[in-house]
Amino acid sequence: MVMQSITVLGSTGSIGTSTLDVIARHRDRFSVFALTANSQVELLFRQCVEFKPRFAVLLDEPSAARLRELLAETDLATEVLCGVAALEQVSRASEVDAVMAAIVGAAGLPPTLAAARAGKKILLANKETLVLAGNVFMEAVRASGSPLLPIDSEHNAIFQALPRGYDGDLKQNGVSKILLTASGGPFRNTPLSELQHVTPDQACAHPNWSMGRKISVDSASMMNKGLEVIEAHWLFNASADDIQVVVHPQSVIHSLVQYVDGSVMAQLGNPDMRTPIAYGLSYPERIDAGVAALDLFKVATMNFVAPDFDRFPCLSLAYQALRAAGTAPGMLNAANEVAVAAFLDERIAFLDIPRVIAAVLDELPVVDVCGLDDVLAADAAARRVAAERVVALQR
Ligand code: NAD
Ligand code: MG
Repeated sequence: MVMQSITVLGSTGSIGTSTLDVIARHRDRFSVFALTANSQVELLFRQCVEFKPRFAVLLDEPSAARLRELLAETDLATEVLCGVAALEQVSRASEVDAVMAAIVGAAGLPPTLAAARAGKKILLANKETLVLAGNVFMEAVRASGSPLLPIDSEHNAIFQALPRGYDGDLKQNGVSKILLTASGGPFRNTPLSELQHVTPDQACAHPNWSMGRKISVDSASMMNKGLEVIEAHWLFNASADDIQVVVHPQSVIHSLVQYVDGSVMAQLGNPDMRTPIAYGLSYPERIDAGVAALDLFKVATMNFVAPDFDRFPCLSLAYQALRAAGTAPGMLNAANEVAVAAFLDERIAFLDIPRVIAAVLDELPVVDVCGLDDVLAADAAARRVAAERVVALQR
């Protein structure tokens, strides 16, 4: 067995800690090259003690200095770096075999792209990378030959249900549709009149999954599913019409692939991200993920309904952005990040989130994406317009 050396970007988050949980079960297979976090010094320090990485990266210098102090009292050789350039450095370092991309938001793009350009195996949890810069990122993956393993549970399920070595041609492989499942989030049955007043904590109380706050809000608005439609477009070369969202409240089927002969392949499991993480880490082998076996008798019933686009305008906006192509998905993502942050700060209401996004998509022109500069310019413009809308809605 060949040891794999792993960089975990965003190691203190929900996906990051689950990744380290799987790694801890298989010390004979995986070693940790670098751990990175925004500013959670204490947790990052504890992770350094447990996994003894060569590097630890924090975003700002005061946090890095504090981590250096803590490490000075140990006999660890972990070197502390800081800033965005350091994230890229530990993603492309020659010693690294695989990079877990688990930073939240557009901030995850630069180091994930650096890993792709360096030909690393990429475990992609950061869906924003694809939404923002799908063509730039996929081109880098193709050019370098990076193995790309989707970690988002739905995309991991689709990856498993497609033929091994799928080459990006749905038709040639006899696929008629990708069926992307969605739980419908905590507000699936909330009366529409109450949605205006829901709080951040209510939005973050997901019925099936425990996740970071940003993606939890996205699940409540179903923007998460919208971003996942765009993610599936890039990963599997599927058009908007090839991807059908299916609301499945139990979150047992993580997605399905429908074939022209009438077969439908699905991947099932308990809602625990350690399953797709373990699959990505050990692919094409299977390893224990610490996840309990699925008890079908306990599940007993599974339901499926069509998504309600009136209740969840964010889902329509995402399809609209995917069809508009170019910089539209990136602007959708940027506007959503600004709106969700404002909602979590209680500056705008839950139903204002799609209003902010729609205003941004209405106001800004869509241009073709030829390179990263186009992506970053559109992202910045969308953030500016979204921030203005937030202020206008705030009163
Ligand atoms: P989280 O908020 O729990 O963790 C985010 C991590 O990124 C933390 O380690 C944080 O320190 C770091 N970080 C935050 N901002 C940063 C910045 N500006 N620069 C550098 N590092 C920064 O988020 P999460 O729920 O683990 O989600 C991570 C990614 O995985 C997201 O893109 C999300 O969409 C995706 N994802 C998560 C889940 C899940 O179950 N949590 C499922 C599917 C996909
Ligand atoms: Mg998902």
